[in-house]
Amino acid sequence: MGSKILIIGACGQIGTELTAKLRSIHGTDNVIASDINTRKLDLVNAGPFEIIDAKNFNAIKDCCKLYNIDTVYLMAALLSATGEKYPMEAWDLNMNSLFHVLNLAKGGTIKRVYWPSSIAVFGPSTPRVNTPQHTICEPTTVYGITKQVGERWCEYYHNKYGVDVRSLRYPGIISHKAMPGGGTTDYAVEIYHEALKSGSYECFLSENTSLPMMFMDDAIKATVDLMEAPAEAISIRSSYNLSAITFTPKDIFESIKQHIPEFKITYKPDFRQDIADSWPSSIDDSVARKDWNWQHSFDLDSMTEVMLKELKKKYGNK
Ligand code: NAD
Repeated sequence: MGSKILIIGACGQIGTELTAKLRSIHGTDNVIASDINTRKLDLVNAGPFEIIDAKNFNAIKDCCKLYNIDTVYLMAALLSATGEKYPMEAWDLNMNSLFHVLNLAKGGTIKRVYWPSSIAVFGPSTPRVNTPQHTICEPTTVYGITKQVGERWCEYYHNKYGVDVRSLRYPGIISHKAMPGGGTTDYAVEIYHEALKSGSYECFLSENTSLPMMFMDDAIKATVDLMEAPAEAISIRSSYNLSAITFTPKDIFESIKQHIPEFKITYKPDFRQDIADSWPSSIDDSVARKDWNWQHSFDLDSMTEVMLKELKKKYGNK
């Protein structure tokens, strides 16, 4: 029998595309999308959908039983920039939702869990270049603290209770379908929209802020590959380093200018600059590449090409 999947937080930037991909693999009816509301109507109408608050254990449990779910992808979270504004809400949502799902797996209601971590687990004391898999993790954001603690609990539930939980430390994710949800790398999505909409962009990070990034197609591929890998291949039960591209706001501006020569940028760093400065600029993901053959496909210029091509459909061909 095939997998029965529940995605919690399916209407977000990553959930939207993950839902579509998993449905193409497992069949629409075998992938239940859920979120806290029905705001994203195209996703709600595309297949089975339930309203679930990720903080409500019984709501998740009832849905898992109703649909005979074996695998949960927990995508609901408060992200880095929003987490700094609402620290207690970030702690509450990010930690409790994870405990709920891990406890359902511990109790045997479900068999497998996917939960994303982030490069936000790293902090100013972490080596910034080619950050290793195992290194100092002293995050300075609430979001980073929730991800670091979450990783510890994932490993604990695996070691103590045999829970099959898998995780990736996503870098900043760039996509054209859904807008990002309040992270520090959101500029790298907004810039493409503004290049086409207004021809200029005011960037909230400084021009030489180098951060690890990834095109959505690669992030989805990594997620699917990790979840399809045999359990024996998974040596990391906290969260895998995952890497594709590193660039600065200036680099992405130059990449866009190759297509839109009149595009203009200004820089006005805000509180998100401090968050970005606490994170690595590049990531060593050799363990993921060795364990389950992770490989990325998109570099900065190939990503720019797709982003502009797809967004032109939305904004018209300028
Ligand atoms: P997002 O903010 O775009 O989406 C989160 C979704 O969760 C939203 O649809 C929101 O409505 C939903 N949600 C919020 N509160 C909820 C609740 N109480 N119950 C149910 N749903 C709720 O986030 P995303 O970018 O898609 O991120 C998904 C995961 O990936 C998160 O764990 C995030 O930390 C991680 N991540 C994302 C990035 C990135 O660049 N996007 C980078 C690193 C890690």
